[in-house]
Amino acid sequence: MARSDFPIFDRGDLAFLDSAASSQKPNSVLEAMDEMYRVSYANVHRGAYELSAVSTDAYEQARQNVAAFIGAPAEEVVFTRGATTSLNMLAFRWGRDRLKPGDKIVLSIAEHHANLVPWQMAAQRTGAELVFAPLDLDYQIDVEALRGLIDDAVKIVSITGMSNVLGSMPPIPVIAEMTHAVGATLIVDGAQLVPHAPVDVKTLGADALVFSGHKMLGPTGIGVLWATSELLNAMEPFEGGGDMIETVSLHSSTWAPIPQKHEAGTPPFVQAVGLSAAVDYLRAYGMDNVRAHDMEITAYALEKLGQRPDITVYGPKNVERRGGAVAFTMDGVHPHDLATILDEHGVAIRAGNHCARPLMDHLGVPATARMSFYLYNTTSDVDQLLDGLDAAGAIFGIE
Ligand code: PMP
Repeated sequence: MARSDFPIFDRGDLAFLDSAASSQKPNSVLEAMDEMYRVSYANVHRGAYELSAVSTDAYEQARQNVAAFIGAPAEEVVFTRGATTSLNMLAFRWGRDRLKPGDKIVLSIAEHHANLVPWQMAAQRTGAELVFAPLDLDYQIDVEALRGLIDDAVKIVSITGMSNVLGSMPPIPVIAEMTHAVGATLIVDGAQLVPHAPVDVKTLGADALVFSGHKMLGPTGIGVLWATSELLNAMEPFEGGGDMIETVSLHSSTWAPIPQKHEAGTPPFVQAVGLSAAVDYLRAYGMDNVRAHDMEITAYALEKLGQRPDITVYGPKNVERRGGAVAFTMDGVHPHDLATILDEHGVAIRAGNHCARPLMDHLGVPATARMSFYLYNTTSDVDQLLDGLDAAGAIFGIE
């Protein structure tokens, strides 16, 4: 099990080091979706004919499977378009609907724009204040500084579980304790965490967790908003439409029970079946093994990059407390040029601000290169990248 399960690698010598942006898909995920489109396709929750019942069952089984993957009851799993949509639902319906002037929202300076911009919109509309936890010298969220920021005015803390740039992994249960001590809500951006480490919402301590299917071997167009049933019941729907109502009259409506209340319109049910197959694949591989594999390659990459005086790495050194997104710059070579040269060597990496513009300002760089790993990568992919760095150095005349 691993590389040969992913048809993209049939194309040859590709060192795909951009899984933090989106992962590749195994055959089992592609086949599950293909089969649904070919032999059991009909809209869910509608017509009383057999095909529709079959696809509704498949959709609800997918919900149960994804819920079990994070240790949650099925009713607490809302399928959305992705982590971004899930965060917007929370920022609008949990934030904007409830916040008032004087309230505070706590984020970190390392957040992806998806966990920053929706909160800016909520703060601007309500007069609430945004407060930012700094990083410590090892690029981790400074937990003691965060503790100092949490007072009675704080209503929401929304923090990444694993940075898509630095790889940093803050201790979520500790942050949950401080958040709950003031009666605030803890939201975890799990877009990188859930694909790469075992997560059980019963021990995580958060009130809500968001993630995307496409970064965890699943298809695009589907993500998850997990939240406690208390939160999902108390939160108003973000969208109105078909399938989310209980009763409708010309002037008013009432809502269906959770999770349907938060799933207006035709849901991404084929994608849900694909995500469920991805979850099966990850479960069979073992999330502990995914984490161990990431740690092994990350340690190798950090060691090799650390031996090069022309490379600066941004992120924690201890692989026990970080994920496999490794951001770096090379002296004298712009990250975009580097990505282009590496591409010519069959190495796919990301270059840019990684949707974390304020973090780039903090690091004092306009952009970085970033490599990131998943279960189909090996250390030889890193070696291919290192050869590419030598080639880039030669092109730019750097000794
Ligand atoms: N948060 C983090 C930490 C991410 O890495 C990403 C994706 N780059 C997102 C949120 C947004 O995910 P999506 O684009 O799938 O909605």
